[in-house]
Amino acid sequence: MKKIILSAVFMCVFNVMAFGATATTRTDWNSTAAVNRVNTIGTKIIKANGIGQAITFKVSDQADINAYANINKEVYVYRGLLEYVTSDEELAAVISHELGHILNGHCAKQGVLNTGVNILANVAARKVGTLAAGVGQQLVSTKMSRKDEFEADITGVDLMTKAGYNPLAMISVLNKICGNYVDIFQTHPSGEKRLLNIYNYVEYNYPAKLKTGFKSESYTKALTLLTPTVQKRHNSASLTKKYEKEQKKLLAKKEKRMAKAAKTSTIWDGYYTTLQLMAQ
Ligand SMILES: [Zn+2]
Repeated sequence: MKKIILSAVFMCVFNVMAFGATATTRTDWNSTAAVNRVNTIGTKIIKANGIGQAITFKVSDQADINAYANINKEVYVYRGLLEYVTSDEELAAVISHELGHILNGHCAKQGVLNTGVNILANVAARKVGTLAAGVGQQLVSTKMSRKDEFEADITGVDLMTKAGYNPLAMISVLNKICGNYVDIFQTHPSGEKRLLNIYNYVEYNYPAKLKTGFKSESYTKALTLLTPTVQKRHNSASLTKKYEKEQKKLLAKKEKRMAKAAKTSTIWDGYYTTLQLMAQ
């Protein structure tokens, strides 16, 4: 019990200092504009990637920096997150990440209705000690979910790139979210591995994008963080070889996983319809 209270206190500090977010519902918030924005970007990504699944986008008037996908193939974006992202590119990254969870079958795998997989499900969240108050109620911190995050990140990179968005925005927005934890705890960034996973994937699959770069303070900070590791690999033939092997393996695994999820999704759709009918 004590641990939970402590964590809640940390989260209050985190929210106020890092995000300036308040817990109140704003009356001046233009929810129609927000829904349109999320819908426009989400639909663009879906169309560009020929995603046949019926996915709906929803906006929630809550101050948390949060977004999640659920088994009902709904992608929820919170007001707090909409106010936090600094460009449509960053919002596209968040939406693509959530779509990545759906397409990889992560939501169906959870097997529980209304269990979401969350943009914040990273190592940093666990570092706080327990689930983040108001942010992580639907977040299951397991080894499995960490793996899911890595998978959703790279699938998200593919999805947004195909829709014409800069995949480096994925690094930018995640570094902002993970990085703020670092400022408070003054320790090594827990999200570094996740950022490196995305950077390596972009370098291997979309090298031209790295040359273009991405204009945001957060991306610049992430580059400073990742450059020593990347440079070390560039300077080492054996590390480069290992990296190329890993990337090939990653692609093969991703294709296999997506194909399996596409099949499973059809089966699950049947189960889900039955469950809904039974609930009526
Ligand atoms: Zn996620």
